[in-house]
Amino acid sequence: MTAKIIDGKMIAAELRGKVADAVHRLARDRGIVPGLAVVLVGDNPASQIYIGSKKKMTVAGGMRSFDHTLPEHTSEAELLKLIGRLNTDPSVSGILVQLPLPKHIESQKIISAIDPTKDVDGFHPANAGRLGTGLPALVPCTPLGCIRLAKTVHPSLEGLEAVVVGRSNIVGKPLVQLLLQENATVTIAHSKTVDLPSVCRRGDLLFAAMGRPETIRGHWIKPGAVVIDVGINRVTTDGKSKIVGDVAFAEAAEVAGAITPVPGGVGPMTIACLMLNTLRAACDLAGLPPPAL
Ligand code: NDP
Repeated sequence: MTAKIIDGKMIAAELRGKVADAVHRLARDRGIVPGLAVVLVGDNPASQIYIGSKKKMTVAGGMRSFDHTLPEHTSEAELLKLIGRLNTDPSVSGILVQLPLPKHIESQKIISAIDPTKDVDGFHPANAGRLGTGLPALVPCTPLGCIRLAKTVHPSLEGLEAVVVGRSNIVGKPLVQLLLQENATVTIAHSKTVDLPSVCRRGDLLFAAMGRPETIRGHWIKPGAVVIDVGINRVTTDGKSKIVGDVAFAEAAEVAGAITPVPGGVGPMTIACLMLNTLRAACDLAGLPPPAL
């Protein structure tokens, strides 16, 4: 079997288009322009690339982008002060603090200082709790994107066996909550899971979010399964550097029914969902219902 390739770039472009249309209507009818504040501390090259595309897409989507690039030696107190200012700035609908932060700053303290209604990354404990209890919440962008990608193959996930490999707060755990909301039957695997291959083979839906290059092999996959590869790993082979996922793509594509490529799968959807969350936060701030996109 040769899997259908789930074109994350195209699906993300469609979503960004819908968000841009809604942003246009919001500005035209209500005079509201959503604004995203992006905070970067230090000069991590990967972070600079990520926030570069986030800022570009924000502006392309008709929203405002507020750039706060701070030096590596910025103190925790200074960063908290900036977050406090952004929390009360009415032109800022969403606040994104690019992770990882320098070691002398406690990430959880910073995330917890963000106003939960502006927490477009969905990492604030209040949003995590709301998601877990089924209340409306800002949901982390990557899991949100994963669900949208899976639904391009199975519009309803109800009753499907879903296996999530990885239990981080930013991907695995919120993804499990979203899958439960979709009425899938969920298994979450991690580094202590015994016999990971046979656990993976249960999945009609298999989500790989381990950060381990090409670990999930073709024979770990249930024939016809939908494989969503979240991993972004830089590897060097024959002196050449490239990005690969957590799934051995060529092998997996021989067994799966559909699969996301890396790059060009989950990555673009994460940014598109950030745009969606920024729009949602702007609507919430204005007391308007969330856009149905
Ligand atoms: P973390 O390192 O926070 O979590 C990794 C998870 O994978 C942990 O739960 C860990 O288990 C589990 N794990 C690690 N090794 C194994 C193994 N051999 N077998 C089974 N489980 C294992 O990573 P993140 O969740 O932040 O990111 C995961 C990947 O997704 C990374 O490659 C990251 O770059 C990528 N990513 C991609 C995004 C995108 O937009 N496409 C966005 C965010 C992340 P344990 O808990 O037991 O340690």
